[in-house]
Amino acid sequence: MRYLVLSDIHSNLEALESVLEAAGEFDATLFLGDLVGYGPNPNQCTDLLLRQPNLTAVIGNHDLAALGHLDLDSFNAQAKEAALWTQSRLSESSRSYLNSLGQIEELDGLTAVHGSPSDPIWEYLETRNQAPENFARFTTPMCFNGHTHVPRVFAQDADTKKTEVTVPTSGAHLDVTDGLRRIVNPGSVGQPRDSDPRAAFGILDTDTGRFAFHRVEYDIPATQARMTEAGLPDQLAARLTFGM
Ligand code: ZN
Repeated sequence: MRYLVLSDIHSNLEALESVLEAAGEFDATLFLGDLVGYGPNPNQCTDLLLRQPNLTAVIGNHDLAALGHLDLDSFNAQAKEAALWTQSRLSESSRSYLNSLGQIEELDGLTAVHGSPSDPIWEYLETRNQAPENFARFTTPMCFNGHTHVPRVFAQDADTKKTEVTVPTSGAHLDVTDGLRRIVNPGSVGQPRDSDPRAAFGILDTDTGRFAFHRVEYDIPATQARMTEAGLPDQLAARLTFGM
């Protein structure tokens, strides 16, 4: 079984299309939240995601904001402006799909959340001292998360509870059959923030027991032009060039 693992698409259609093309054949799709917010194509991204095979997805903080279910004072000025823009553009079918999503999903030995197992909506999982309470909050060997827009792996020895945190590069592989428990962030499709502007995604192959981190270039100027046309904040478009 080959899973395409995606997070933080953020209404970036060019990035999503490039990822789907680069991913090749896959049997199932795991999406880790923040389908909308920041970018110019919330409805097209929703429609395209929904056409992917065996989709399992969770909701992110920007999806909640677009639904009007979040106090926008928790966002910075540009994120708030983009959230209000998204609210005004969201189609009835996109709204109803986002409304159907839960905060945690579990399937085939995998847990999926947006932020973290402890706080699926808000926690940015970045440092080793966050590991103990988070590994205690799920029971599967592996958990996938997003939200930071930076690929990252927490790997814990099930007996000693010793945990290592690594930031994988593009093309890096994990052997997920080695008995370690892991929380894995594949990075962001539509708004990477690790100084690599390419769209990020992961492929989990349960037959070979391997998870691979991938990056793919997409037409950043085209996304930026759509953002300008839509009247979205200039800074949100500009940062795509730098992956910041
Ligand atoms: Zn996000």
